[in-house]
Amino acid sequence: MIRMPRVVVVGSGMSGLCAVHYLREAGVTDITVLEKRSEVGGTWRDNTYPGLACDVPSRFYQFTFAPNPDWSHLFSPGAEIAAYFNKVADDLGMRRLVHHCQEVTSVERRDGEWVAHTATGDTWHADFVVSAAGVLHHPHVPEIPGAQDFAGAMFHSARWDHSVPLEGARVGIIGSGSTGVQITTALSTVASRVSVFQRSPHWVVTVPNPAYPRVLRQAHRLVPPLNRVGYLAYRAGLEAIAQALTEDGRRRRVFDAVVRRSLAGVRDPELRSKLRPDYQPGCRRLVMSPGYFKAVQRETVDVVTDGIDRITKAGVRTADGREHELDVLVLATGFDAHAFIRPASVIGDSGRTLDDIWAEGPKAYYGVAVPGLANLFMLMGPHSPVGNYSLTAIAEAQARFIAGWIGRWAQGEFDTVEVTDEAYRAHQEAMSEALPGTVWASGCTSWYIGGDGLPELWPWTPERYRKAMRAPVEDHWRRSRSAVAPRSHEENYA
Ligand code: NAP
Repeated sequence: MIRMPRVVVVGSGMSGLCAVHYLREAGVTDITVLEKRSEVGGTWRDNTYPGLACDVPSRFYQFTFAPNPDWSHLFSPGAEIAAYFNKVADDLGMRRLVHHCQEVTSVERRDGEWVAHTATGDTWHADFVVSAAGVLHHPHVPEIPGAQDFAGAMFHSARWDHSVPLEGARVGIIGSGSTGVQITTALSTVASRVSVFQRSPHWVVTVPNPAYPRVLRQAHRLVPPLNRVGYLAYRAGLEAIAQALTEDGRRRRVFDAVVRRSLAGVRDPELRSKLRPDYQPGCRRLVMSPGYFKAVQRETVDVVTDGIDRITKAGVRTADGREHELDVLVLATGFDAHAFIRPASVIGDSGRTLDDIWAEGPKAYYGVAVPGLANLFMLMGPHSPVGNYSLTAIAEAQARFIAGWIGRWAQGEFDTVEVTDEAYRAHQEAMSEALPGTVWASGCTSWYIGGDGLPELWPWTPERYRKAMRAPVEDHWRRSRSAVAPRSHEENYA
């Protein structure tokens, strides 16, 4: 390494921590992580609702560089996953790099470097910016008439108010996606009444969630390669599902039949028909749950399909005129999945902003770069392979790729690197051609769908993505020397 790059990483969630690891593997030590909250962990810090678990097997939802032999369940609970990422930050000595309560408001390229501004008025100078701001972190709070009138407690699922008692309470849950399903299942045995306000049903598949016996955990501790075996086995399973989702063929038909059969677990035909979506399984993110169908058949749970007319002082009034009296109202209404690093403004060399570049919707070359923003990379950018797959695996592929470029800068190969317009456009065209063949484009609404009506997802298998990310296609990237030479390591620290 002939010069040390200064790297600002935005966010200390799963992908931010992953970026730090791979940057350090590439020899980069001058890393500043700007984090808006007072803890690391991103989505696993923000989401603490009852029933939270990851619907990707834990042995595959972990970093390959930090295997955890101690997962308690096939799909471990959220608190355990949050503890895992905190432990990674501790064990790998990442905490000292993280500056908390530093919300990035803008990053601007000026005089051959990036300048990041935070809400506190601080500025940070860098040769590279890596956005690890996450996909699902801006809660979507719908404007429902009368919301201000409600006399009980009301909050979004990602801002759970743990001071509110739930035992014996009458709880309303607006939303029946992955989050609503987990909350409903957990509260069905705690609350006196759970009313699920389901605007439209999601396909739910019943998947058992066994605890790992102590002996198995011990075996994973004593024989570390077992962790790798488990990782690869679950990866193969999810790859098979990804193939069913992306390729219309025999696998898709098997997947379809298996998911539809799950609903047979609901005995009452009226309830079953309420829960049956009218689109193909997998079109929206498939919800995996060990106990949702059991929960909705409990006396305490009511699946309400009449539309919400308004929120009242006492609860929720539906279009049929019925008043559902509630003590607590949970908005499991999802997230703005199209924001990425925004609302922070991103301004490139020529004054071109990310908002300009994304005027027709967020897009990125392989989810990591856009033309016009040299030396800026993103993790989990638009069109990353995030549909029913492990985001840790994708973050690792992206972080390794990005660290590769930054490592080459450190060797003095170039001062700026950015994806070319041609490569960016060709990539979008190839995706636009492939997307209609995926199940996500088969006719449904979901957070996957962008402003152009196409899913903002990678339309091929994650395996193809991982292979593509092993090495850059050299002529897809423009490298140049700066008019302003980057400051030397000595100058930076003078
Ligand atoms: P979501 O899938 O976007 O679901 C939001 C729900 O809120 C939908 O049922 C939606 O109804 C409803 N809704 C939104 N606005 C509404 C309104 N104005 N009136 C009535 N209903 C309204 O959000 P999510 O459940 O939070 O899940 C988002 C993503 O987070 C998931 O797809 C998944 O990727 C991730 N997640 C993962 C896990 C995990 O286990 N790994 C757990 C939770 C979440 P419609 O369906 O009619 O639009």
